[in-house]
Amino acid sequence: MREFRIAEPRTADELAALLNETREPVALMAGGTDLIDELKSGVEKAGLVVDLRKVEGLAGIAREKDGLRIGAMTRVAELAEDAAVPRDFPSLRQAALSLATPQLRNVGTVGGNLCQRPRCWYYRDPQVVCRKKGGFNCFAYQGRNKYHAIFGGDSCFIVYPSDLAPALISLGAKAAIGTAKGDQAMPLEQFYILPEVDVTRENTLAKGQFLKSVWVPAPKAGQRSAYVKLKERGTWDFALVSAAVSGVVKDGLIAEIAIVMGGVAPIPWRLKKAEDVLLGKPPSEAAVRQAADEALKDASPLRENGYKADLVFAALKEAVLAIAP
Ligand SMILES: Cc1cc2nc3c(=O)[nH]c(=O)nc-3n(C[C@H](O)[C@H](O)[C@H](O)COP(=O)(O)OP(=O)(O)OC[C@H]3O[C@@H](n4cnc5c(N)ncnc54)[C@H](O)[C@@H]3O)c2cc1C
Repeated sequence: MREFRIAEPRTADELAALLNETREPVALMAGGTDLIDELKSGVEKAGLVVDLRKVEGLAGIAREKDGLRIGAMTRVAELAEDAAVPRDFPSLRQAALSLATPQLRNVGTVGGNLCQRPRCWYYRDPQVVCRKKGGFNCFAYQGRNKYHAIFGGDSCFIVYPSDLAPALISLGAKAAIGTAKGDQAMPLEQFYILPEVDVTRENTLAKGQFLKSVWVPAPKAGQRSAYVKLKERGTWDFALVSAAVSGVVKDGLIAEIAIVMGGVAPIPWRLKKAEDVLLGKPPSEAAVRQAADEALKDASPLRENGYKADLVFAALKEAVLAIAP
């Protein structure tokens, strides 16, 4: 394991200033459940690790007039247990409880979950210099790609592994980014970037920036949501494919819907075309078939992952039928 120094800022301003001024490669550490593995394997080579655990005001869930603010350092278990979450945002609770194991949910944070690095085995192998690590090739493209992207891959075929991200995006969440010049807010959907924008990172965070909190708008009248995660194993596992759906069904017809898939693309993948097909239709298997077929026209499966197309339909069907009153 390489040597690194640790900094422990106490306030968000101190953190922002430290990140802004530091010249060497920096890694933020929240719960450490992902970062420590990366440091141990040498995939993460930071000389300075900034521990977020003592920064005031980054943890906790606050009820605001128009929604729920979730601090980046809120533990995933706390999110699942919060009284408002099962009532107002069932998909968020389902996503939180589907994630890893009770032990990891007790230590892992919401910010760490939303900023975790991909699980691609080529990226995680310290001996392999793939495109994400400054090399010239995506080895998954012609190699072992059973778990890789069927949408949006282009030059790098990772899938974004977070369970919370699709659920939060489908609920219309916004990210608050801490910077030395004050906070910036953006739709969480725009926080994630495709490899064609910058293959070396998965989100917009630039030097000096960190994720401070996410805000979820209060549900509209009649809004329902569901998160369906399809895995290879019965025990803890990352999603092969997941579907987060939020919407309003009025008089038996879908009046509003947002669909975000996990496990299929380098970022949480919005299925806009499927949403358009479903609007005005009853939440039925036939309508979902049509919607999935339309969305899958944009898919480019690799040699080993064509099965994900069937899982897109299966996850979507279960999630869409679950939002029917
Ligand atoms: C065995 C195992 C199973 C898992 N299963 C799942 C699963 O099923 N679903 C799932 O979604 N995840 C899964 N994970 C990943 C796990 O959810 C994450 O490791 C955890 O939520 C990350 O939280 P953390 O606080 O420990 O993050 P850390 O490990 O501390 O950080 C993770 C990454 O996020 C960055 N980071 C952390 N906080 C911030 C911040 N505020 N601003 C900017 N960057 C930040 C760090 O620099 C690091 O790159 C699994 C992990 C393990 C080890």
